[in-house]
Amino acid sequence: MSLFRKLVLDFEKKALEKGIPEETVMAYLVELSQRERYDLYLHFEEEAPQELEKEFCLGMGRILNGEPMAHVLGYSWFYGYKMLVNGEVLIPRYETEELCANILNRMDTFFPHLEKIDIADVGTGSGAIAVTLCKEEKKCQMRASDISLEAIEMAKKNARLNEATIEFFVGNMLDPLIEKGIYLDVLVCNPPYIPQEEEMESSVVDYEPHIALFGGKDGLKYYREVFENANRILKKKSFMAFEMGWNQREAISQLIQEMLPNDRFEILKDMNGKDRMLFVYHNG
Ligand code: GLN
Repeated sequence: MSLFRKLVLDFEKKALEKGIPEETVMAYLVELSQRERYDLYLHFEEEAPQELEKEFCLGMGRILNGEPMAHVLGYSWFYGYKMLVNGEVLIPRYETEELCANILNRMDTFFPHLEKIDIADVGTGSGAIAVTLCKEEKKCQMRASDISLEAIEMAKKNARLNEATIEFFVGNMLDPLIEKGIYLDVLVCNPPYIPQEEEMESSVVDYEPHIALFGGKDGLKYYREVFENANRILKKKSFMAFEMGWNQREAISQLIQEMLPNDRFEILKDMNGKDRMLFVYHNG
């Protein structure tokens, strides 16, 4: 039996030695114990319950070995919603919350007259974007696709958990939506956009699905696919919202000018000041 203080301090020291942020230790304890941080600190000089200590030590062992905390817990938080995750889907990122916020505030002003907004999240993965938009904007008629059946199963669980109504399709990118003859007001897509040869941190490449990360030689494969088919899926006045890589501004701008010369677009930075979001305003 150990005091909370000792448990936390010991693991913080080990985390630092491994180059893992020390905040991870308290963050994990908060989630595992389902207690508020201040409440844990108030009881720092007391012994941790035995079961909790056991599970905490096991979990911290995995985290110290490089496994993402979200995998150890089986979930992560996105836009205030709990999202179940496993190795079949990308763990939702903070940057993608910003993408959602920007989509939501554009929808308000873009479609004031619409009673329902036809929207799809293409390559939905865990379903984090689809669930969030669906919950935050009641007018959304939400669809979501993914080529991975395992991802769609996870996304369905997240829709159920968060009571979001979403129609799911298994299939490559836009294919299932085009087949159904669906036309959209808003197309959202956080495609795999890392160039195939790019070096990545092992905490990402060892644990997260490569199919959700790598977008061909230049990382732009899936943007091309969407731009090529934009006219088959978008309504006349509509917009597309993508996440993108911090170093893709020039290449993506050129691609749009070539493939969608009539569409206006803007690229927004994330909170770290990196190019991260692409909005394309379609004029079909
Ligand atoms: N932002 C993710 C990362 O850097 C990649 C996400 C993606 O390819 N869509 O790990």
